[in-house]
Amino acid sequence: MVEIVPLNKKWNYLRKILERSGPFQQETFEPSGEILEFLNNTCKILVIGAGGLGCELLKNFAMMGFKNIDVIDMDIIELSNLNRQFLFRRKDIGKSKAETAAEFINKRIAGCKVTPHFCKIQDYDESFYRQFHVIVSGLDSIVARRWINGMLISLVKYDDDGNPDVSTIVPMIDGGTEGFKGNARVILPTLSPCIDCTLDLYPPQVSYPLCTIANTPRLPEHCIEYVKVILWDKENPFNCALDGDDPEHLSFVFEKAQERANKFNITGLTYRLVQGVLKNIIPAVSSTNAVIAAICASEVFKIATSCYEYLNNYMVFNDIDGIYTYKYEAEKNPECLACSSKVRTIAIKNPSSMTLQDLIDYLCNNPEYQLKNPGLTTTLNGKNKTLYMSTVKSIEEQTRCNLTQSLHELNLSDGQELVIADVTNPNSIIVKLKFTDNEVEMY
Ligand SMILES: [Zn+2]
Repeated sequence: MVEIVPLNKKWNYLRKILERSGPFQQETFEPSGEILEFLNNTCKILVIGAGGLGCELLKNFAMMGFKNIDVIDMDIIELSNLNRQFLFRRKDIGKSKAETAAEFINKRIAGCKVTPHFCKIQDYDESFYRQFHVIVSGLDSIVARRWINGMLISLVKYDDDGNPDVSTIVPMIDGGTEGFKGNARVILPTLSPCIDCTLDLYPPQVSYPLCTIANTPRLPEHCIEYVKVILWDKENPFNCALDGDDPEHLSFVFEKAQERANKFNITGLTYRLVQGVLKNIIPAVSSTNAVIAAICASEVFKIATSCYEYLNNYMVFNDIDGIYTYKYEAEKNPECLACSSKVRTIAIKNPSSMTLQDLIDYLCNNPEYQLKNPGLTTTLNGKNKTLYMSTVKSIEEQTRCNLTQSLHELNLSDGQELVIADVTNPNSIIVKLKFTDNEVEMY
């Protein structure tokens, strides 16, 4: 007796695209049933973030024939997530987002295998990221975006002529949303503009240098940060940690920040701003997430199958007032911190008055660097010397005294190369100091 196998109609809608030619297919595209096989059985994708975008992305991929999906997220589910992160239920509060999302999809979509990773992206090294055909990120953190960007750039190998070996390139599709605005972009590390190439697209960082907060506030935000970072611990008004949801705490911060704002003639401080700064609120709108995730998922599909030209390379979406969208080709920055091999030069006007702290503040505040807590080393008289490093307590204590020393006092000279490590990149950055007004010491 012949066994009757029901014809699997599940992916019929994909077959129409993958098994026929079309006017917009990529040059390399050859319609065949093998492409669906590839999606189902071979293609491995990584979704970074299992939040608002991540839930949408996982659902989209599972319904689009991708069966080998990994998802990485370090967060746990909170009550406020439930209005849009639809893979989670009330009973899941407190559980891992990655694990809960994976379990939901695996149960719901037969044959789909989502592997969760309940950890930080920084917990994995090259060997983990190298295994994926495409990576898609739905992150709300610029630091994490820059880190994964740097990681994917470091995966690229070059041939003897210095050209990137395309088989080592792992494409990244990056989606981002903020309220009613969103964007999606396709990044082919080293070939197309990367996250750091277009760093100036991101709003200025929300953390402020401590010295500004402590000594020279200019913005109402500086006054709020002052109460949060310095005054709260000093006065300890409620004998507990500051809670951005507690109205009494908010009132205290508002009052003290107002006092400080008055002292420095700063206007514009409101209770709402206090709430915003303390809770670092990024508003989330589920419809924006759905649109951006859909765009990202189609780009992944196009890249994985070659069935259609993929986005080149940046798409903007805005539904504040009607719907507005456009795409453009962002350009590579030839001096990009992450993807260019060019050594960056920092011009220093007066090395005998510029302190190491000034230099670090520059690296944190300059729009082209936007570093977070850089650690600096250099070579002096043929020896490696750590100038400052905040990430290891014992080294921080040993090197703290250098912060107030001038670059001259630290024996740094014109042309000195500094090696900088920072959370924004898994690799070190090299910058060269150029002293423009190098005063000759007089004897
Ligand atoms: Zn770049």
